[in-house]
Amino acid sequence: MGTALRTPSLRECERCGRIEYWDEDDETWRIREQDGERKVGSPYCIHEWDINGAFKPFEE
Ligand SMILES: [Zn+2]
Repeated sequence: MGTALRTPSLRECERCGRIEYWDEDDETWRIREQDGERKVGSPYCIHEWDINGAFKPFEE
């Protein structure tokens, strides 16, 4: 069970729908865009992250 070179981490807030992905280059979480919309969720939300252990690529 080695670490693959490309294992994007993704997390989604179960409360407001905010979606972030891990930017390996800058080593920070960034807002994910879907259908041209930034999934920022609510700035007042206490995010409850649903983190998928296994990365599942999204169909664009
Ligand atoms: Zn949230």
